[in-house]
Amino acid sequence: MTGPEQDYCVVHIGLDDIDLYQFGCTTHAATYLIHELSKLLHIHLLDYLNLVRLNPSIPWKTRGNGAVAIRIAIPCRYIDNIAELTQRIIDDYYAKLCKHLGIDIAEPHVNPGIVIALNPLPPIYGHIYTKALTDVVLPEVVLDKLMKNSNTLLVERYRGRGIVGAAAAIGWVLHFSDYTYELITYRSKYRYLEPRCVDESSVYLFNDTTRYTFNNIDIETNRILVTPHGFDPVLYGVRGDDVFELIKALEMIKVCEPISAWTIFRSNQGTDAHIVERSVNELRSYRTARLRLRILGKPIVIPKGHVIVRAGDSTGVIDLVFFKPSKLDTVAKKLQIGDEVVVHGHAKPWAHEVCFHVEKIIVVKQTRTYICKPPRCPLCGCRLTKKGFGKGYKCLCCGRSFMNIELECHIDYRENLKKLFMPPPSEQKHLIKPLNRYGREHKEHLPLKEIPLDTVTKIVEPLLFL
Ligand code: ATP
Repeated sequence: MTGPEQDYCVVHIGLDDIDLYQFGCTTHAATYLIHELSKLLHIHLLDYLNLVRLNPSIPWKTRGNGAVAIRIAIPCRYIDNIAELTQRIIDDYYAKLCKHLGIDIAEPHVNPGIVIALNPLPPIYGHIYTKALTDVVLPEVVLDKLMKNSNTLLVERYRGRGIVGAAAAIGWVLHFSDYTYELITYRSKYRYLEPRCVDESSVYLFNDTTRYTFNNIDIETNRILVTPHGFDPVLYGVRGDDVFELIKALEMIKVCEPISAWTIFRSNQGTDAHIVERSVNELRSYRTARLRLRILGKPIVIPKGHVIVRAGDSTGVIDLVFFKPSKLDTVAKKLQIGDEVVVHGHAKPWAHEVCFHVEKIIVVKQTRTYICKPPRCPLCGCRLTKKGFGKGYKCLCCGRSFMNIELECHIDYRENLKKLFMPPPSEQKHLIKPLNRYGREHKEHLPLKEIPLDTVTKIVEPLLFL
């Protein structure tokens, strides 16, 4: 920083897997951390807290594979203490959560990871982000790379698998890419086991009166989508492109339980950030991709109504899987051999092979198909009947048989499928760009700039928060 703030240094703190079985969550821990740090140090918050979603197909995620990065400037003289301070605060977070839940702190808890990086951010963080978003990353490899990096501080006790997400979340800022926001409200710790108490009609009202929010409700199933269902501390989260609209939720969405705290996150949610161009021969289990393919086989409906369609490009062949709840099975059943499609999704292992789970499909070319029937008898005009494979046709009226006769064909005018098909909001994973965000993309990342802490996060009821 410059001027009177010359003695401030920029620090990026990445966190992941800071949950405890089904309780707690990394965003909740990050909210605790930023407030505790601000009590101990004079900090400048340089961005909304970043909620960075990573590869949605990773098998060991608990929920939505989200990690958090906090970007602050602190007095440079505290740089040597920041790792220890962060560790102490997160120790404290676990201790309080365990005490409250009656869990023994000595039990090994999940796989938490904390990474601290200093400016200028080394490019390796950008690479880790891309890989963790679109592929599988080994924690040992990340640890090894970070340990060799002089701008990185590692936290002794928190070097579990979470370091993958923690480093990736830090690296997001190096990709000048699209973003959205989410306002998350947190519950009272005394209500974790109770059903959430949010007035649904006020969520509908919020949805109807905001222009730039998304996935608040699923019209088809008439369900509100802002409340999670587990024991985590989130009461509700609303997502959108405009912070000022999101903050209105605090007034508009009526709740019948206390909100202990809220935080606004900037995020890669709803941006399709995980979609990278690949060809079939580049697919491996858990890689995300956009593929351009030609349909090679007829759709096959398997038990539970899912649909499998064989497709390929010049490099190979793959089975596309369309799951019934995604409603993409309907379009899949209408595909014909020769159609050309672009699919978004991820590769998954299936019976010793890799298949591709489709999350969006655009039909780019519909092949022309024909409907054919036997012609009429040239002698008596009756419609001919097929005798059997390779045996020609017979007239049932005059008894004559014919070989090598030309069928009567006409073009099958199929329904126009040349458009984008995507699942209903309730089936869309966090990273999927919803329909109403198309054309609304932010073309560049915000530069890091001071934002008052109390406009980003607030602990409303400290005694209920943790
Ligand atoms: P929470 O919301 O509580 O954080 P979650 O669904 O985000 O839950 P985590 O508990 O964070 O899931 O578990 C995901 C784990 O997978 C983390 O340890 C993270 O570091 C790791 N991870 C994320 N992406 C990848 C990846 N591409 N390759 C390998 N590990 C990954």
